[in-house]
Amino acid sequence: MIFDTHTHLNVEQFKDDIPEVIERAKELGVSEMAVVGFDTPTIEKSLALSHTYEMIYSIIGWHPTEAGTYTKEVEKTLQRQLEDNRVVALGEIGLDYYWMEDPKEVQDKVFRRQITIAKEMNLPISIHTRDAIEDTYKILKEEKIQNIGGIMHSFSGDEEWAKRFLDLGMHISFSGVVTFKKAFEVHEAAKIVPLDKLLVETDAPYLAPMPYRGKRNEPGYTKYVVDRLSELRNIPVEEIARVTRENAHRLFRIGE
Ligand SMILES: [Zn+2]
Repeated sequence: MIFDTHTHLNVEQFKDDIPEVIERAKELGVSEMAVVGFDTPTIEKSLALSHTYEMIYSIIGWHPTEAGTYTKEVEKTLQRQLEDNRVVALGEIGLDYYWMEDPKEVQDKVFRRQITIAKEMNLPISIHTRDAIEDTYKILKEEKIQNIGGIMHSFSGDEEWAKRFLDLGMHISFSGVVTFKKAFEVHEAAKIVPLDKLLVETDAPYLAPMPYRGKRNEPGYTKYVVDRLSELRNIPVEEIARVTRENAHRLFRIGE
């Protein structure tokens, strides 16, 4: 049984076939998933899904590419939505210097505000970072997130960066990127993450793993991420599935 810790069944690409996608996920061994909402419509859809399907949990927050629209009003609504008992983490939050929709200072401020809220509510955080790994690290370190912990989502840094984020108390989550042939640095990182800090995800509909690279990704394909980690670490597939699921349960406090 596999826990997909980061997926977006709440976006346009899945509007016509959510039940079928969920059925296929079950057939491929996915028993639970966290649907991540990152703006008003996707947050609402994530909550609707987690209240409809027992196997779905919600992670909600304000994405760095939306930083410019983060108002007091948005924050108030978000705080109320975070109290929902289906919400297991705050995210995805972080920095995105690839799209650079808003200046660094704005992204920094919105990121730190949400970390403060996560601390107040004692929720782990799910981190998005793109072309901004150094500043992301600096902020997480300064904000002292050890007590809440969280996830480096779709980790695509190298071994050294993995170690640094692990030292901050973060979990490292691998997506389809780890199945790509030339992602050598990510392969090396995947080999050194302690088993109790390892997570898996799809980030569907994006980043489909081999052999579906370039197609629409879906939660069931977490299986291919688990398979690749099993190869890289020489640990049975069932064992990777089991420990990553247990880690998700512990971090998200499911079943406590
Ligand atoms: Zn995402």
